[in-house]
Order: sequence, then C-alpha cells, then structure tokens
Amino acid sequence: MGSTYDVTMVGAGIVGLATAWELHTRHPQLRIAVLDKEAEPGRHQSSHNSGVLHAGIYYKPGSLKAQLCVRGKAMMERFADEHDIPYRTCGKLIVALGEDELGRLGDLEARGRQNGVGGLRMVGPEEMREIEPYAAGVRALHVPGTGIIDFTRVVSALTDLLRGDGVPVLTGHEVIAIRSRGGVQVLETPAGEVHTRKLISCAGLQSDRVASLNTTPRVQVVPFRGDYYTLRPDARYLCHGLIYPVPDPSLPFLGVHFTRRADGEVWAGPNAVLATAREGYTRTDLDLHDLAQTLRYPGFRKLARRYWRTGAAEVWRDAVKSSFVKELQRYVPAVRADQLTFGPSGVRAQAVAQDGGMVDDFHLEADGDSVHVLNAPSPAATASLAIAGHLADEVASRFSLS
Ligand SMILES: Cc1cc2nc3c(=O)[nH]c(=O)nc-3n(C[C@H](O)[C@H](O)[C@H](O)COP(=O)(O)OP(=O)(O)OC[C@H]3O[C@@H](n4cnc5c(N)ncnc54)[C@H](O)[C@@H]3O)c2cc1C
Repeated sequence: MGSTYDVTMVGAGIVGLATAWELHTRHPQLRIAVLDKEAEPGRHQSSHNSGVLHAGIYYKPGSLKAQLCVRGKAMMERFADEHDIPYRTCGKLIVALGEDELGRLGDLEARGRQNGVGGLRMVGPEEMREIEPYAAGVRALHVPGTGIIDFTRVVSALTDLLRGDGVPVLTGHEVIAIRSRGGVQVLETPAGEVHTRKLISCAGLQSDRVASLNTTPRVQVVPFRGDYYTLRPDARYLCHGLIYPVPDPSLPFLGVHFTRRADGEVWAGPNAVLATAREGYTRTDLDLHDLAQTLRYPGFRKLARRYWRTGAAEVWRDAVKSSFVKELQRYVPAVRADQLTFGPSGVRAQAVAQDGGMVDDFHLEADGDSVHVLNAPSPAATASLAIAGHLADEVASRFSLS
C-alpha cells in the first residue's frame, strides 16, 4: 500500500479545486490530493458556462446561494486581481418586456436588496437605451455590479497554486469504486489505487454516481444542455454588457440572455433541454446509459409531468433556429438570423429529488468519512471560493480536522 492521503477531493472543477486550496491553506499539515477523470482540470461545467460573475439578486434570501454568491463574487474579484485574471464589471439589465412582468421585476429588486446587492436601480426606456441602445422593454432592473470573467483562467490559477505548493492534482484518475479497508478508503482508478482517510467529492455531472459508490444519495443529477449562438463580430455592437429576461421564478434557469464575454465575443443563450448524454456537448450526443438512468428515475418522471409544456417548447426552440432567433428578438429586435452562428454548449448538473422537485440551493450530503456535493449549479462558479470556505467549515467539524 502506497502513502495515504488525509483528504482526497474527487473532481477538479472550479468548486473542487477551490475547496482543496482552501483546505490546504487552512490546514497546511494535511496531505491532500485532487483527482479528476479527464486529461485536464475543469473540462466540464467549469469551462462550459456563460462566464458571468453573478451579483446575487436571484436567490432566496438566507439561502446558501444568496449568501455564498454575494460573498463569493467579492472573493473572486480579489482572487482575479491577485492572479492577473481579467474581469470586467459591465453591469446587467434585466428587462421587462411588458407591464405583466413588472411585478416579478419588482420582486427581484426586493430580493436583491435583501441579499445585500448594491447599486440596484429601476430604469425606464430612455435610460435603458443609454445602457444598452438596442435592448427592447418597458422597464429594466440595472445591476451595475454584475461582471464577466473567464472561469477557465481561475481553474488554471487554482491548479497552479495547488501543484506549486505540493498538492497533487492528478488527472486521468476516474474514481470507479470505493472500498473501505482498515479505516482507510481505497479509491479505485484506472491509474491505480488511491488511499485516503477522508473524501470530498465535487463531481458535477457525475456527483450522484460518485456519491453512490459509498452512500445512497437522496437526489439524482438530471442533465440539462444549454446551447448558445454567437453574434458575428460585426454585430457585437448590439450588446454592450449583459441583457437578461425576467426569469420564471418556478425554474432554476435564468432564460436565454445576451452575454458579452471576457474576450469580446457575444453569446446568446443558453436554452435548457434535457441532455441525452451527461457529458454530451452536441445535439446528437447520445449515451444510452445516461438517458435510461434519467428516464427510469421517478423524480424525473414527476418533473416531466409537471413541466412537459415548457420542455417541449425548449426542444422546439432548440431544433428550429428561427424560433430561437424570435425569442432573442424580443429582447434585441435588431438582431437577425444571419448575424447568429451556432456556438458552444454546456450541460448543467441539476439535482432532482425523488418527489420531482428541482433542488434549488447548493446541496451536500455527508456520510461517515465522506462529504458529497450533489448540487452546485449556477452561480457556483461565481461563488466557488465562498463555497470552498463553507465546505472547509463543514468538514473541519465533521472530519475533526482542527
Ligand atoms: C450552460 C451553463 C452556464 C453557466 N453559467 C454560469 C455563469 O455565468 N456564472 C456562474 O457562476 N455559473 C455558471 N454556471 C454554473 C457553473 O459553471 C457551475 O456551477 C460550476 O462550474 C460547477 O463547478 P463544479 O466544480 O461543481 O463542477 P464541474 O466543473 O462539472 O467539475 C466536476 C469535475 O468532476 C470530475 N469528475 C466527475 N466524475 C469523476 C470521477 N468519477 N472521478 C474523478 N473525477 C470526476 C469531472 O471531470 C469534472 O472536472 C453555468 C453552467 C452551465 C452548464
């Protein structure tokens, strides 16, 4: 038997890496390792997202999302400053298209204030046009603190910090089985066994499967793919920063939006369709095992019964470009189909409970010497450094680390 780690992190996405770094900083005496199945860290959600530094307005006051997003954004900006990662606080307009959306927009403003988000202001059509000259709408909530960043730069910086300080980040190490032997957990990977006293998993799209290697998770991941279109370079003038719809409060997704990226590109999307492969980034990707697991899950069937209309509309919009464009034109009427090119996609790991409810907040389950993060959807990239602090507190008492 080789050496035994004190704590092993399964998953080198932004949350796993941030947590490993936080633990290493707080407890430098611990022997920590990070394992990831891919050839590079951050290959999944952490590199397939909108790149928005969320301010924290959407989330239920008092929830982990609300607390950790507001705190995490400030931490992320500090981290970016310290590590020369560019980010831009470009602000966001959340646009009400008609009077019927004003109530929900007002609720959002109130929520944002309760969450401690500064600078929120309702603006009328004239001021809206000053901020986003091409946006439609009767009224908008301006969120000046929202920013944009390339989260893959954060993943690289965290990986370098860990490796530079002697914490191994081992790629090509997919954890496929966990056995317990003499008080030590033996993680089986294609690259050999890894022995650890304590285990934390932040395995994103596979988090329920990793958890089920040594416990029985109460939720299952249902993957939702989101496709983006990109604006042709000569049409990027149509969006200066971020133009968002008023979201449906019953859904965890924010609706298709225009996002200026850190590199100057403008993306429009993502929609939300059931993914036929957890790690499938094209419309034709199909993994029969993934799909069968979703369709067999009673929680998914209940969810599908509740939202089949919304789901069908999303599938239609996904397949028919003119319908996607029509949705975008509601927010930026000047945008034309020929200015939009089919772009990248991401897959969200959304935890769904047995009763069909989509788990709204960040969610972890602990069992003995393991802690599994089972729901870390948006804004978990923004909040990752604060989630790391929260997890480090959690495991300090659970694992008696201090
Ligand atoms: C389309 C989309 C748009 C989004 N937009 C935003 C946004 O604008 N702002 C924001 O804050 N958030 C956004 N998010 C959410 C954000 O990207 C995620 O919340 C965040 O990246 C989650 O990080 P993670 O480390 O938990 O998961 P991941 O990045 O998915 O990492 C999980 C890691 O676990 C590894 N793994 C899995 N199974 C195993 C195994 N068995 N053994 C070893 N390793 C394993 C995987 O290879 C992967 O690297 C978006 C997400 C999506 C999909």
